[in-house]
Amino acid sequence: MLTDLTIAQAQAGLKAKTFSAVELTQAHLTGVDALNPRLNAFITVSHAKARDQAKAADEAIARGDIRPLTGIPLAIKDLFCTEGIRTTAASRILESFIPPYESTVTANLLNDGAVFLGKTNLDEFAMGSSNMTSAFGPVENPWKRRQDQNAVLVPGGSSGGSAAAVAARIAMGATGTDTGGSIRQPASFCGLVGVKPSYGRCSRWGVVAFASSLDHPGPFARTVQDGAILLGSMASHDPKDSTSADRPVPDYQAACKRGVKGLRIGVPREYRVDGMPAEIEALWQQGIAWLRDAGAEIVDVSLPHTKYGLATYYIVAPAEASSNLARYDGVRFGLRKDGAELSDMYGNTRAAGFGAEVRRRILIGTYVLSAGYYDAYYLRAQKVRALILRDFNEVFANVDALLTPTTPSAAFAQGEKMDDPIQMYLNDLFTVGANLAGVPAISVPAGLDSNGLPLGLQIIGKNFDEETVFAVSAEIERAAGFTALPQIRAGM
Ligand code: GLN
Repeated sequence: MLTDLTIAQAQAGLKAKTFSAVELTQAHLTGVDALNPRLNAFITVSHAKARDQAKAADEAIARGDIRPLTGIPLAIKDLFCTEGIRTTAASRILESFIPPYESTVTANLLNDGAVFLGKTNLDEFAMGSSNMTSAFGPVENPWKRRQDQNAVLVPGGSSGGSAAAVAARIAMGATGTDTGGSIRQPASFCGLVGVKPSYGRCSRWGVVAFASSLDHPGPFARTVQDGAILLGSMASHDPKDSTSADRPVPDYQAACKRGVKGLRIGVPREYRVDGMPAEIEALWQQGIAWLRDAGAEIVDVSLPHTKYGLATYYIVAPAEASSNLARYDGVRFGLRKDGAELSDMYGNTRAAGFGAEVRRRILIGTYVLSAGYYDAYYLRAQKVRALILRDFNEVFANVDALLTPTTPSAAFAQGEKMDDPIQMYLNDLFTVGANLAGVPAISVPAGLDSNGLPLGLQIIGKNFDEETVFAVSAEIERAAGFTALPQIRAGM
């Protein structure tokens, strides 16, 4: 099946003309049409544009102009602005917004020859861990509990549609954004590789902003090598994003082959939390053993401020969100609901356009930034953030990478954790630290829980050293030999 190929295999097949880019894209569009009514992974499917891009790819291949992603069908999180294609951020307020420009990351992918199948579902404005807050409805995780095939599980969030699409083999790879875990957590829930690079490695220009100092674009893939191919294409220095890093993009595929011999891998003791399922602890121990067997040295380390990570994140992220979302005022673009006075129009527009979680974040954000509470909450959170960064810097003076679980649980059912936002926020326990510090991290599928659901291990690296993170991830992938397939997938 063409839809089962990895990106690396598809590149080879296209080059050898075993199949055409049009055939490859059509196989995926057929899968999308069959499965999307159930999975709801795509908000917008761009059939005609995808076929045109595939045709152009075949012409390029015939000319000998073969780029890193020529003819590879991808899915794009609906947070990346795509010129001429509706971009909603899964919010009513942008329901009919058609950007007149292309984000830098998607422009890089297109320039490398990629085909875009469409725009994927997400939590509204990327705020969530379950894809339940989308104005376009929830996404179904293609994986099923062995014991309870009727339960509809969440794919994780916020990039739930991208994760579901790649897991169900209706896209070969996808873009995501990770502000507190939104690539790694859905990757873990859907049995995928999820890559959050260093802050600034991928441009944020043209990505709908959630929390600017925490937002990281990155890829989803089914193998570590495919993740390396996609990140290599997405990453660039971008003068249009002042936080973009002016550094050469290394050869990530080569880094996947480095091995881990002689590397020092830290195991942070603060990630061993009360109430964590025994299976996750066991998988973590397994991961440690795999790396030790492959020649790495395992070091017990401490990140003492880990326990403040979530509290810090849930102050900084809403603060930045409340400021970023001020632009949705009904004046220049997006939804407008008229009112008697200008201020009524603002209020009506925002009340009609934003869902409950987005409103909650704006309320928290404006509160922690308000004159009376700024010092007590926002300023203090910034200070703690600096301590969290210092923890990472100190640890990385002594080790090359860290190994942790990605999430404290496997995928849960739709509707679970919905009545208690704190329970939902706990999903991000192991992922927010890397966002607060800006360091790269990858989630790799490492095993299944007793229900047959995927679990990921997380590798965290030094700032701008994605190469070591890829090397360790590739070793975990090799050792885990993860071959399980989701029950819902193309061609079933
Ligand atoms: N779950 C986290 C939140 O709700 C992270 C989301 C993200 O990374 N975009 O804020």
